[in-house]
Amino acid sequence: MAIETINPATGERVQSFPAFTDQEVEDRIAAAHRASASWRATPLTERTSILRRAADLLEERKLEYGRLMTTEMGKPIKAAIEEAAKCAVGCRYYADNAERFLADETIDAANERSFVAFEPIGVVLAVMPWNFPFWQVVRFAAPALAAGNVGLLKHASNVPQCALGIEEIFRRAGFPEGAFQTLLIGADRVQGLLEDPRIAAATLTGSEGAGVSVGRAAGAALKKVVLELGGSDPFVVLPSADIEAAAATAVKARTINNGQSCIAAKRFIVHRDAAPEFERRFVEKMVALKVGDPLDPSVEVGPLATPSILSEVEDLVRRSLDAGARLLVGGRRLDGPGNFYAPTVLGDVPPESPAAQEEIFGPVASLFRVGSVDEAIALANHSRFGLGSSAWTRDAGEVERLISGIQAGAVFINGMVKSDPRLPFGGIKHSGFGRELSIHGIREFVNVKAVWVA
Ligand code: NAP
Repeated sequence: MAIETINPATGERVQSFPAFTDQEVEDRIAAAHRASASWRATPLTERTSILRRAADLLEERKLEYGRLMTTEMGKPIKAAIEEAAKCAVGCRYYADNAERFLADETIDAANERSFVAFEPIGVVLAVMPWNFPFWQVVRFAAPALAAGNVGLLKHASNVPQCALGIEEIFRRAGFPEGAFQTLLIGADRVQGLLEDPRIAAATLTGSEGAGVSVGRAAGAALKKVVLELGGSDPFVVLPSADIEAAAATAVKARTINNGQSCIAAKRFIVHRDAAPEFERRFVEKMVALKVGDPLDPSVEVGPLATPSILSEVEDLVRRSLDAGARLLVGGRRLDGPGNFYAPTVLGDVPPESPAAQEEIFGPVASLFRVGSVDEAIALANHSRFGLGSSAWTRDAGEVERLISGIQAGAVFINGMVKSDPRLPFGGIKHSGFGRELSIHGIREFVNVKAVWVA
């Protein structure tokens, strides 16, 4: 895949970058390896004060970075600016909490002194996706750098300017040379990096296929890996729910980031007693969405990031209709330049059809009807994914059944699934393993060292 910025709203090629040569990659690995030795010895308070400066830079320049994200991958400008601001919050969160998260834990054992220490493990390779081009990187980098590791970023090939922008932020914040570097390379060179003994571990956020490759290569090299993969999150609505609030949130949860979010709600599982009202309100709101130029602040849904994602969405919708789903609205690409797809709702989706079983990365909602809470939970779990989930009810008993019954990395009751630095983020089943954010995220890339002094 070429490393280039192509504006998804216009199809215009904005800028191309040659992939790094082997020597350029080697120089950066060597710099990362050197930086690792000094950075781990840098006092934690110094590390976190540099991270705080990175937060300030992100906040100060959020308009510029927002515009960059929108130009490279098409998210609505308002959300892009919010993403840059959220990155500042994420950096501050680890600047404020890393000391507490990494403090030695005293163990009460029958000896003189016993504790658990959390030490950096070295150079961590991050393979990242384009859909949240700043936030995905920061949520790996902020805890990793605070913990004393150094980072090498292989970003998605369609967001090279975001990748270089993030590198610049960390450099300007004062991180030492080699502590955080971008590698402009294609996916085919990731395996070679994992075989390099100077790289200690890896984290990948992306598709299942990429997860299998990186997981396999990391396993062959016996290296720790965190995988944050795809999702097909259920959104369960039961009769006691506030149907208007559920429908309004459902539209937002499905179309956020132009429908290209791993934790977007994708399968709407509605009790038959609530279904007619929910479906009517949901379809009305999907139709009313403003689709268009993502740089226009009033636009709610922009283009898909690449022509191939557009083709894949078209294909999945067509195959779902062939399998028996009913088209309630949308179902077509929009005329004109850019990768635009109409907000789409599919009703009566057969449980084995692509819309039920695959991750549709676009503004396409799948509606299902069920007759009971148990049926809702069973259908929610009838997926190879297990990332987030949302469920709507005002019945306290149902709340508890949903919390314990749904198999996923997160359950949000009467709310939309979101990432928050204070909460762990990650999945089960084919959505991956390991966690980002919170104390759990910073503890993924540390050596949990047992110390026993007799
Ligand atoms: P992708 O095609 O898997 O790409 C993600 C990253 O992996 C890119 O940097 C890509 O590089 C690289 N890559 C692709 N194939 C690879 C391979 N075989 N070996 C090594 N690296 C490889 O995914 P995407 O289309 O960018 O992102 C969408 C996917 O990410 C969706 O499935 C979404 O659900 C998932 N996602 C998950 C989370 C989460 O936290 N769970 C968050 C966001 C997105 P190139 O660009 O050079 O191909």
